Amino acid sequence: MYRTHNCGELRITHVGQKVTLSGWVQAIRDLGAMKFVTIRDRYGITQLVFDENTPEQIKKEADELGREYVIKITGAVLERSSKNPKMPTGEIEISVNNLEVLNKSEIPPFTIEDETDGGDDLRMKYRYLDLRRNPVRKNLELRHRMGQEIRKYLDGQKFMEIETPYLIKSTPEGARDFVVPSRMNPGEFYALPQSPQTFKQLLMVSGFDRYFQIVKCFRDEDLRADRQPEFTQIDCEMSFVNQEDILQTFEGLAKHLFYEIKGITFNEPFPRITYDNAMKYYGSDKPDLRFEMKFVELTHLVKGKNFQVFDNAEYIGGICAKACSDYSRKQIDELTAFVQRPQVGAKGLVYVKCNTDGTFKSSVDKFYSEAELKTWADELGAQQGDLILVLAGNKDKTLNALNILRLEMGDRLGLRGKDTFAPCWVVDFPLLEWDDEKRFFAKHHPFTSPKTEDIEWFENDPGKMRANAYDFVINGVEIGGGSIRIFNADLQKRMFKALGISEEEASEKFGFLLNAFKYGAPPHGGIAFGFDRWCSVFGGSESIRDYIAFPKNNSGRDVMIDSPSEIDTKQLKELNLKIVKEQ
Ligand code: ASP
Repeated sequence: MYRTHNCGELRITHVGQKVTLSGWVQAIRDLGAMKFVTIRDRYGITQLVFDENTPEQIKKEADELGREYVIKITGAVLERSSKNPKMPTGEIEISVNNLEVLNKSEIPPFTIEDETDGGDDLRMKYRYLDLRRNPVRKNLELRHRMGQEIRKYLDGQKFMEIETPYLIKSTPEGARDFVVPSRMNPGEFYALPQSPQTFKQLLMVSGFDRYFQIVKCFRDEDLRADRQPEFTQIDCEMSFVNQEDILQTFEGLAKHLFYEIKGITFNEPFPRITYDNAMKYYGSDKPDLRFEMKFVELTHLVKGKNFQVFDNAEYIGGICAKACSDYSRKQIDELTAFVQRPQVGAKGLVYVKCNTDGTFKSSVDKFYSEAELKTWADELGAQQGDLILVLAGNKDKTLNALNILRLEMGDRLGLRGKDTFAPCWVVDFPLLEWDDEKRFFAKHHPFTSPKTEDIEWFENDPGKMRANAYDFVINGVEIGGGSIRIFNADLQKRMFKALGISEEEASEKFGFLLNAFKYGAPPHGGIAFGFDRWCSVFGGSESIRDYIAFPKNNSGRDVMIDSPSEIDTKQLKELNLKIVKEQ
């Protein structure tokens, strides 16, 4: 038997018992007459003691131990004389009378401690060792518990978990596909699913009216902290539902997770904000509602006073930072430099200090009287002691810059605590978006249904149409999104037409789905949540990598297994592939 208990289990109540533990050597402390060794497994750490009561032979063997050796020990549980209240097992130690080295270890390339000396690259190369560390293991435990709770909730709501294939062809999400060559069908390729979108809709045609799957999706996109080429979705679809049914069902899931995982109860419904208002007040379709600081448009108020920057601007808007009127020159300069960075792209920053003595001081005093500045302050609801920050320029760019500035001020004012959660739904997304290639594309995907009352715009003013599409957002992070689908062949045709997708192209790409829709497709809709992201928001980290056992780096590489890699000529030949290296 390898163990009677695990390394995190023994307490004062076990004193006197003979136990066997197995695990890794965490640390060795040699005090001459006494030696302390800590042994670690997934559950915790226990202290072993070797002293005058330990058989000589065992003491000798203990002298040979090194970090990360895998050992099995047997001994008696003793009460410690100097207890360690920081360790769950800190009241006891084991007096060892038998020791077996199950496996030796080389010296690990970094310390297996909460605060390790290993840099990112090294830890990724030896991810299996990194995963021995507490903080990383805890992240995976969180992920596991969330997965279990998701299944529990959805099963309770009669959802069926059904797997869909990975070797498929293009899905409608519109990112770049990963492709897999087919040996049996020379010259042909599978695409890996960007999501199970078309399959879950087919399952609705098949009558599985509540489907879900915790499933890998693949998108060949440029990577960021919150993006991986393969990531996991909680993918869901329902039949005979409207948007309200879906929002209710999945608000239920979110509340269940908040309660079970974070111990937080939300009694009120989650706020809902339309896409238009999200853009107007927060400059983002994923607003961080942990704090207010809404945008206030000043365009109508500030023009015509010879201040060229405002006179030439399409949009002028401001935010009010509470109790910041004492910002120094240096702090204002920092903020100005912050918004002028290329990523933010503002030309400059106008400020108005609403001083505590009732006076106003601004960077545009030359153009605006105190009385005028007061009208701005009134518009923004700014009070004595507040600081107004104003940006101006092209509308979309300025809204975006103001969003970044708002989040920065939220950080500076400590309004974005990791333990505060502000979930919301963003609804009424536009159906279509006009892109740089000067054509419409589907804001969500081409199966998303327009709002019934907007269908009349399809042919004349498609850009005006709103969709039955929704996103779920927590703390400014898009956690999920979905839509009510088009299930009427005629409407789908009009949609493809608006998107400039010809009938041939539509039938080549999605013919199977359009065909299926001829055989009695029920009204349906769904949603998918980014599982890795949800874990990272609950865990309080910016990076989804921390919640993935074996993630890829920023260049899409797995540095541990060294992938992607070249394949040999034999394999290429089998696949009918030739590599052409560009000079
Ligand atoms: N398949 C969609 C996505 O991955 C989600 C959905 O519409 O259900 O974004």
